Amino acid sequence: MDAGNSNEPFAIHDKVIAPGTSATVSIPVSQHVTGLDSSLSLKVFNGAKRGACIFVSGAIHGDEIIGAAVIQRLIEQISPEMLSGTIIFAPVVNIYGFVSHSRYLPDRRDLNRSFPGAERGSLAAQLAHCFLENVIDRCSLGIDIHSAAVHRYNLPQIRIASGSPYLSELAMAFGAPIIIESPLRPGSMRALAAERETPMLLLEAGEALRLDRFAIEVGVAGVLRVLAHIGMIDADDGLEEVEVPLRSSRSTWVRAPRGGISRRACKSGDVVRTGELLAMVGGLFGEDPEDLVSPIDGVVIGHATLPIVNQGDAMFHIAEVEGLDHAGKHVNSIVEALAASAPPFPATPLLDEDEVL
Ligand SMILES: [Zn+2]
Repeated sequence: MDAGNSNEPFAIHDKVIAPGTSATVSIPVSQHVTGLDSSLSLKVFNGAKRGACIFVSGAIHGDEIIGAAVIQRLIEQISPEMLSGTIIFAPVVNIYGFVSHSRYLPDRRDLNRSFPGAERGSLAAQLAHCFLENVIDRCSLGIDIHSAAVHRYNLPQIRIASGSPYLSELAMAFGAPIIIESPLRPGSMRALAAERETPMLLLEAGEALRLDRFAIEVGVAGVLRVLAHIGMIDADDGLEEVEVPLRSSRSTWVRAPRGGISRRACKSGDVVRTGELLAMVGGLFGEDPEDLVSPIDGVVIGHATLPIVNQGDAMFHIAEVEGLDHAGKHVNSIVEALAASAPPFPATPLLDEDEVL
């Protein structure tokens, strides 16, 4: 190894992590109602060689647990010896919501609306401040992993702010089936990172409180490709083979036409045309069924998995994309590529396989 390229020790909280090694760090945040301390758990891989410092985070919404599964598999596949630069892994940022299987903190605050936070603020503000100081401020790139809410499924998708060619390039490198340009919400980690000029990718994949193989594998493969793209691991970023993701900056929610029990005719990843049947919703005896049809040509990027609906419940999220003729083939090719790879854990359905019409 070129001595001039050796990395420096990485100091964080009470640890100094030598180049080429890793450590788990536990940073006290606040005190539980029982008087026990609650802490933010981080694992730091300090690479043997110099490079960028990035973070990968999950469960900023406490019930969106896919990120923890992605991080566990990344930790198995990368080692600090092979790494250029430093990665801070934060599998569970909203430690309070994670414990109670909730998106929110015990005071009902949304951590992803509480940045930058404050050391002496609410519980959410304290946690946001702790994450900002110890993680975001140390990094030049963040990958934050979310899922849909409970009883909803999201086709794996990268969300980025519009207008940044560099973010666009990183999103392309990630290689999720679709890139959605979405506005920044005040108080979100992404808005704060943008203010501080730290690029951030947000992965939305799968369903809350559930781990599905497709969402996890898109996440793991995507992070590895980004690491390769920015030179942190010595691998092909796969950009040659990965198909260009679909892009969308407009999407629409389609809602239940009546209350009752729904039977879906399509799922996330499907290409739909205007007027195409999405689902039927009927009464308790299946009486008076009403068709729900697509109002636009697009790709289904999210759907409700719960078949019990009130009138007006959001059932499908459909994105308008360019090159729609190619879209279905595109999503299928990603699913097939993953299916062809040796499954690292017992086979589970690749896409949500709930009963459809
Ligand atoms: Zn979320």
